[in-house]
Amino acid sequence: MTDKLTPSKWAFKITHILNAVLGENHFPINVADVAKEISSQLYPQDPIVLIQGDSLPGFEGGLFRGEKGWGILYNKDIRSTGRINYTQAHEFGHYLLHREQFPEGLSCNEQDFIRWESDYRQIEFQANQFAANLLMPLDDYRRQIAPALKVDLDMIGGMADRYEVSLMAALLRWINYT
Ligand SMILES: [Zn+2]
Repeated sequence: MTDKLTPSKWAFKITHILNAVLGENHFPINVADVAKEISSQLYPQDPIVLIQGDSLPGFEGGLFRGEKGWGILYNKDIRSTGRINYTQAHEFGHYLLHREQFPEGLSCNEQDFIRWESDYRQIEFQANQFAANLLMPLDDYRRQIAPALKVDLDMIGGMADRYEVSLMAALLRWINYT
């Protein structure tokens, strides 16, 4: 089965489910729970069964196929909860979008995350798009900060706290939608 949804459509679809189950105020998202639950509902034959921190020198995270399903690993030496959440969401994006293209999985280094806006690797861009849309849905972001409002770093910091993402991720999200 091939998934034709775009990264943002996938994120919207999951946001819609979370809104229905948890209400609109469901932030920050527990990516590990959501990834396991959604994948086991949608793909009971091929779910995400493990999300775990590990020593991954040089890598932020990866998606791996195991015997009973898929695993998401993230670099446990990363100290920021926000970056870990983002990594988990990014890998969840790879699962939804790219696991057929990469049946053994794939790993992602730091560059893949930094080069958010370049098309240097299309799949990394797509995984980032998914992660940003899942963690920080535009509808909610706009409700918190109206587009016309002048923002300062404190307000962006408030958004970073709300979504449990890094300040940089919250800032990029703001820049991208204004
Ligand atoms: Zn990646």
